[in-house]
Amino acid sequence: MRRHASRARASGAHADRRPIEKIDSSFSPGLSILAEVSAMAIRTILEFPDQRLRTRAQPVTQFDAELGHLIDDMFETMYAAPGIGLAATQVDAHKRLLVIDVSETRNEPLVFINPEILAREGVAETEEGCLSVPGIFDEVKRAERIRVRFQDRTGSVSERDFDGVLAICIQHEMDHLEGKLFVDYLSDLKRQRIRKKLEKERKQRAARAGDAVTRSGHTY
Ligand code: ZN
Repeated sequence: MRRHASRARASGAHADRRPIEKIDSSFSPGLSILAEVSAMAIRTILEFPDQRLRTRAQPVTQFDAELGHLIDDMFETMYAAPGIGLAATQVDAHKRLLVIDVSETRNEPLVFINPEILAREGVAETEEGCLSVPGIFDEVKRAERIRVRFQDRTGSVSERDFDGVLAICIQHEMDHLEGKLFVDYLSDLKRQRIRKKLEKERKQRAARAGDAVTRSGHTY
């Protein structure tokens, strides 16, 4: 999930404060740690109307190093975007896994594995944006408060109540795991306009990239 442009810019100023720095300071920085850090990667975020975003994610059953690697990459990708939440679906990894950080300081990373909403209360209408639908923001109605059961990266189970932007973000990201996007809540006409706008922007980006390659005089 992405905050509205003005707020995204404000939080972008803190994008360099990533949780990995906390890990750095708790160990003496050796080569093995550096190797591990450099192994982290920003993954490509799929964009609407990519059909892979419509995939239903499978439950996580193995809480192993590979899962840890995916979680680290997802945080790296989310902080770099910058976004406040990212579902595994968005990086083409179809597992029931979300990463979220709604803090202004960008240092409160939360992981939700196999999340389930146990209870919903109230209605909140919030302007949402999505890293898979760049530049588009619109109002969506969701539950105001939710109780969620989820696992952490070690597989340990928790049950917690959430409200405010965190509750909205969890619901937005959980939709991704079902192959659903926030634009699905909008009218067909609006969704069609968004699809056309994004396609046009992608073509313009591709054309600009082509120009750059031609100007540089090299063939890649
Ligand atoms: Zn999203």
